[in-house]
Amino acid sequence: MHQPAAHPRSSIYYQYKVFQPWLPSAHPKQERQKVVLVGAGPVGLTAALELARHGVPSVLLESELQVSEGSRAIVFTRRSMEILQQVGVAQRVTENGLPWRFGNSYYRGQQVYRLEAPHDADDRFFPMINLQQQYLEEYLIDAVLANPLIELRWGNRVTHVAQDQGLARVEVDTPEGPYPLETRWLIASDGARSGLRSLLNLKLEGASFEGRFVIADIRIDLPLSTERRAFFDPDWNPGNTVLLHREPHGIWRVDYQLPAGETPEQALKPEAMKARIDALMAQIGFAGLPWEMDWCSVYSARNLTLPDYRCGNVLFMGDAAHLLPIFGVRGANTGFQDAQSLAWHLAMVVRGLAPEALLANYSRERVGAAREIIDEAGKSTRFMTPPSRGFRLLRDAVLSLSLTQAFVRPLYHWRTSRPHEYTRSALNSPGDDTLLFKAGPGHGAPPQNIRLGADDYLLDHLGGGFDLLYFTQETAVPAALLQVVNAARARGLALRVIAVGARQPVTGADQTLLDADGHFRQRYGVTADGAAYLLRPDQHICARWLTLDASRLQAALNTALAQPAA
Ligand SMILES: Cc1cc2nc3c(=O)[nH]c(=O)nc-3n(C[C@H](O)[C@H](O)[C@H](O)COP(=O)(O)OP(=O)(O)OC[C@H]3O[C@@H](n4cnc5c(N)ncnc54)[C@H](O)[C@@H]3O)c2cc1C
Repeated sequence: MHQPAAHPRSSIYYQYKVFQPWLPSAHPKQERQKVVLVGAGPVGLTAALELARHGVPSVLLESELQVSEGSRAIVFTRRSMEILQQVGVAQRVTENGLPWRFGNSYYRGQQVYRLEAPHDADDRFFPMINLQQQYLEEYLIDAVLANPLIELRWGNRVTHVAQDQGLARVEVDTPEGPYPLETRWLIASDGARSGLRSLLNLKLEGASFEGRFVIADIRIDLPLSTERRAFFDPDWNPGNTVLLHREPHGIWRVDYQLPAGETPEQALKPEAMKARIDALMAQIGFAGLPWEMDWCSVYSARNLTLPDYRCGNVLFMGDAAHLLPIFGVRGANTGFQDAQSLAWHLAMVVRGLAPEALLANYSRERVGAAREIIDEAGKSTRFMTPPSRGFRLLRDAVLSLSLTQAFVRPLYHWRTSRPHEYTRSALNSPGDDTLLFKAGPGHGAPPQNIRLGADDYLLDHLGGGFDLLYFTQETAVPAALLQVVNAARARGLALRVIAVGARQPVTGADQTLLDADGHFRQRYGVTADGAAYLLRPDQHICARWLTLDASRLQAALNTALAQPAA
């Protein structure tokens, strides 16, 4: 019988709330479900909200009775915020998080590199914002609890899975014993140690790295701004790397590599941690400043992914699908993109708007994203924790040279998580005009946000389905285009037409956005009326035209839904 911890976890800044378990005796009849998600971490919660946005109900099974222990992911990217905006929690993150855009690298106490992440007037969100994962989960849970299409079952642990006749059958253990549950689609969002992955005997591919890191959250009154600080080869941890991040509520994340040969048990001993954290504080000029420990843990860097995120009727996402190093803030941030992507692909299939073949595209695109990250993150990881004598020699040469040679300094900087562009996606329109555009987001890219007013941005107006940005100064959308739009809607497809550029509301458009100074058109590379962009439900661009007509729009919609041409 599954007995999740029923007392709140301890923390000096976060009040854990313990939820009541969902018990089968109170719900004797179990209906077959369309979609069941296993794991209400940040990725499962986001996917359930996204599915609901596309009109698909789901049951979300969570083994625990409270949110995750410790701050875990603390840095969220702009793209994550854009996704969180769609599910209604970005504002709470903005209100409570700490935005930043500068990163600093130090070698032997001397600053050798300062990174400035791009941020322009068209961006609603900062490149990065720091917030402890518990808060993010709490905001997502509040949104889930307010959503009538999602049933969240606390204290429900999946222990078995079987698949046959196009169904997944799971056994769910609860504090009063197990019950069976049947579903058409099962989503595995059960985290790094995914039980579903093991039950289905699926193997992750890739590499694990030798280096281990201690993560410690301490409360300390440091008068420093919110910027990322990386210390290479400090006197007190020679040859190793140390990271320092500010979190809300006076908490700081200290992240340092274990010296070779030291075990996690030795590293987590209070006296060992005190000596190292005191040494770090002394190094940055705050010797003797009192601090208090909130949470600590040890982790190792891994670069692993499943080769396919679909196994029959089970679909994988987040840490269940891949394990990525946290340098460059990849874990949770990549998971949000998985959640957004899986939700729309699956919603189209569940609602009969696309064939099952569309799900292969989810897997292809997101495995591609994970592999790109693994490639980039591998370079960062090898720099931070050189896996061999050769790598260490090279790394040390870069470090020493950086004291006198500016050109090597950018090598310190590891690339942070950025949204993957589905450049070669099968859903992109082969017959459009993308190659003729001189600017603007291309095939598979997420949209460039545009500031439309004091507190008004393009991305505030997108979402819920496909969006057609139609650039025109005419009074109406051409009737032939509207015919295609209306036929798609009649089949149940959510497709909005947003006219851009006219001074008056454009007839046939759901909305008209003014572009008085032509800034929008310029950023999107539009030079004449009649140009258009088609955005998928995850906002990525799947087609763009200098001149759009009805047959091109129809062809693009068919391609984006993996439908054969009519
Ligand atoms: C120590 C640590 C530090 C980290 N630091 C960072 C960081 O700084 N930046 C970053 O981006 N990422 C970081 N991460 C990674 C980040 O926390 C994860 O990438 C993120 O939580 C993944 O979300 P998820 O929803 O896929 O999985 P999880 O958050 O792990 O959620 C999985 C959920 O599934 C539930 N579950 C598991 N098995 C079952 C089952 N059989 N039945 C029902 N429910 C089940 C679990 O209880 C859990 O709630 C860190 C992780 C750790 C462990």
